[in-house]
Amino acid sequence: MTVDTHALLARYPLLHDLIALRETQWFNPASTTLHQALPWVGLTRRDVDEASARLQRFAPWIAQAFPETAESGGIIESELVAIPAMQRALDAAAGRPLPGTLWLKKDSHLPVSGSIKARGGVYEVLAHAEALATGAGLLTPDADYRQLDSDAFRAFFGQYSIAVGSTGNLGLSIGLISARLGFNVTVHMSADARAWKKARLRASGVRVVEYAEDYSVAVEQGRREAQQDPRCFFIDDENSRTLFVGYAVAGERLKAQFATQRIPVDADHPLFVYLPCGVGGGPGGVAFGLKLAFGDHVHCLFAEPTHSPCMLLGVHTGLHDGISVQEIGIDNQTLADGLAVGRASGFVGRAMERLIDGYYTVDDAHLLALLRQLHQQEGIALEPSALAGMPGPQRVSGDTGYAARFSPEQWQNATHLVWATGGGMVPPEEMAHYLGVA
Ligand SMILES: *Cc1c(COP(=O)(O)O)cnc(C)c1O
Repeated sequence: MTVDTHALLARYPLLHDLIALRETQWFNPASTTLHQALPWVGLTRRDVDEASARLQRFAPWIAQAFPETAESGGIIESELVAIPAMQRALDAAAGRPLPGTLWLKKDSHLPVSGSIKARGGVYEVLAHAEALATGAGLLTPDADYRQLDSDAFRAFFGQYSIAVGSTGNLGLSIGLISARLGFNVTVHMSADARAWKKARLRASGVRVVEYAEDYSVAVEQGRREAQQDPRCFFIDDENSRTLFVGYAVAGERLKAQFATQRIPVDADHPLFVYLPCGVGGGPGGVAFGLKLAFGDHVHCLFAEPTHSPCMLLGVHTGLHDGISVQEIGIDNQTLADGLAVGRASGFVGRAMERLIDGYYTVDDAHLLALLRQLHQQEGIALEPSALAGMPGPQRVSGDTGYAARFSPEQWQNATHLVWATGGGMVPPEEMAHYLGVA
């Protein structure tokens, strides 16, 4: 036991709620402007612009390798939709109208892997492939990247391997894109990973190693195995800056989507974004991209299951990756398999804490009820993790302390964006089970 729980509880009474598995929230009094916070992030707009340009170079290859992306020219992007029927249902349940308008960002239906991991995971594999091919003199940045879709390139990438640890969706993204390029790829899956994700990967020629333990163990084993092979590249979900900038490209894309829909985001029209958080890379990277795109007019909130509140615990206590939920007696057992992480990324927590307004937790039964409600009201089917953002708008605008940070006019003009992070590829039998009809 490395943590003195009594001392921690005395200093941070909020931990009583976490330990009791009660839904709770915390708004960081130390959040600052983007300008003040940037030095801590350690990454800049230029890093995100570079990632965006790299995705453009690969777009012709992506369009060819994944025909479902042909229509968008090989750009992997999701729809932005208003969900007025769901907003009315949530208003009725809360007994008060939400100030502002509710929108959904459907990363759940991103091509390639049906989750937010089709941003960061895909991006890091492409960055690695490009570095190998250019390093070997086989590719230049101005080349037509469709040539990567050839036996010669697959044989080249076949000399290398890629490894990753995952609760499911990151493994799915990285496995599918790596296998398509020709890499040997191994995915180390935690006990939470759904059977269909493992079967899907094996059918694509991916090696899947299964663990009876949670995410941290799967990542550690993957890291160890990769260290023994100099030709193996380990994708480090707990620390990778490359994954992070891949996620961050979402910011400029969303800005263009809001412009097309003629939805203003400015001082009088704040944007609140609700992001489900596992280890933190996905929501952290997206939040960074959003801040670069919208400046201080966007407000980001992270959502976690009551059984896996690792980021709230790490940031609130300032211990970051120096503490796990298990160390304070929380089991990290949740229906939200994409968020089943007991120890947060130390990199993301430290880099982003000043840019995140708050954190809240959601009970599993609540996630499932919201899943059914969204399907009923809007005909949109998500996996449980992807609903974590949904209670956010009512929770946040209803918190007297946080609500006072904005004027009543700002609340009335607000746009609330729930980031739906996964579910588009869940098999129908499994979805029927979630929906309670099987
Ligand atoms: C991975 C994942 C997240 C969170 O991303 P992290 O980088 O782990 O914080 C959220 N929702 C779903 C469905 C995911 O698969």
